[in-house]
Amino acid sequence: MRDFTTSLIDLVLGRSCAGCDEPGLLICQDCKQALQPRIRLRRDLDVSDLMEGLRIPVICALDYRGTTRQVLYRYKDHRIRQLAIFLRPALAESITFAAHHVGIELRQALLTPLPTRRSSIRRRGFDSTAHLVQSAAPLTGTAGMRHLLADVRKHGAAKHVGAFEREQRAIDAFRVRKEGSLPTQPVILVDDIVTTGATVKEAAETLLVAGVQVVAVAAVAGTP
Ligand SMILES: [Zn+2]
Repeated sequence: MRDFTTSLIDLVLGRSCAGCDEPGLLICQDCKQALQPRIRLRRDLDVSDLMEGLRIPVICALDYRGTTRQVLYRYKDHRIRQLAIFLRPALAESITFAAHHVGIELRQALLTPLPTRRSSIRRRGFDSTAHLVQSAAPLTGTAGMRHLLADVRKHGAAKHVGAFEREQRAIDAFRVRKEGSLPTQPVILVDDIVTTGATVKEAAETLLVAGVQVVAVAAVAGTP
């Protein structure tokens, strides 16, 4: 077995597959196949306490496990930005399905990324979610991407916290950015991975309270 540094260099140089470590391409054919979108409606976010009867669908293109999990991890934590090329078809499909599902035209829809934690941006040197949304946007025919939310979370990384704690931490996690006027067209909130849904719910609620018409959440992957 090769040491970690060697395989990391191989990855960065695209000498082995980010999904399975097979020598050769950055993504092998089998892993490329595994990243083919299999769209599903994961759940509805119940925001009826803000607006009577309002539910926001959460669409995922892939299950967060196996190859998908590995490639997302390497994209984000190994900072292999080029992997966005292999993840964006799934995200574009998720966005497209979300628009159809809620009955809006794609060209009307504005995409807004779920803000990445500032500490994660510092660590990775790039905003992994925004980079992915920006990369997928041209494949969707939507009105493009705009940052509408800012991250105001104070706690550390949320990797190893339980569902309850995650939900508590999601409260007051975001604020609406002050730059520019708020959009009047429908907005699709976009994230890379949806787990409990608490974070996207908080983000959606922050936007709704400000008067932004959030119609759906689209993600690359969701926990099965
Ligand atoms: Zn592979």
